[in-house]
Amino acid sequence: MSRKFIVGGNWKMNGDTDQIVEIVKNLTQLPLDPNVEIVIGIPSIYVAYVKSIVPNNVAVAAQNCWKAAKGAFTGEISAPMIKDVGAEWVILGHSERRIIFNEEDDLIAAKVAHALESGLKVIACVGETLEQKDSGITEEVVTKQIKALVPAIGNNWQNVVLAYEPVWAIGTGKTATPQQAQEVHAAIRSWLSTNVSSDVAENIRIQYGGSVTAANATELAACADIDGFLVGGASLKPEFVDIINSCN
Ligand code: PEP
Repeated sequence: MSRKFIVGGNWKMNGDTDQIVEIVKNLTQLPLDPNVEIVIGIPSIYVAYVKSIVPNNVAVAAQNCWKAAKGAFTGEISAPMIKDVGAEWVILGHSERRIIFNEEDDLIAAKVAHALESGLKVIACVGETLEQKDSGITEEVVTKQIKALVPAIGNNWQNVVLAYEPVWAIGTGKTATPQQAQEVHAAIRSWLSTNVSSDVAENIRIQYGGSVTAANATELAACADIDGFLVGGASLKPEFVDIINSCN
């Protein structure tokens, strides 16, 4: 079994042309570990531009898309549009989409199905709130979120990466300990083995996301079931390169 480590950057709604040039410069100045797959999630308006300036070893993702190819959906972008400008990935189900924009499991599943049918790869995010963690229902919440995606993914698991992102750790500076993260990642893999297949469980890459920094990446990366990171704030900084290069 070998799961290639995958580090995603999620710029969220950050960046302008000058800052983008700086970030991309940082990604080209030092060698990036060839054993790590790299994907950066860009605000939709800059996806095409970033795709035109990033090196070949950095893939580009949109941070959201709609569940249909085209039509009367003012303000939305579609999976075929993302593909058309050369991006390969889309991040779906991020907790900010779930919480701020009220996206529920069935809508996220419809988006995942459509993105995969359109030939995009998907980083599908799951994670519990602080209240849910404190109630001891983390695994229940996370597996319910994944269960909703199973029919949408169908036979396309090879084009999906799961990102376990505890909501209480996102943008808060509070990282899950390696033990906490490993426990949930192992539980996800075990659930997949029982409810999907042992093959999917063994091969799916599960990223951890939530205040990952260069200071905590190595210890988290050493956990058996952590196969990468989804990095928010630190993906805007030169530190992102250190995170990529400290994984193996
Ligand atoms: C994220 O936005 O997916 C994220 C994990 O953010 P941060 O790294 O800033 O916590």
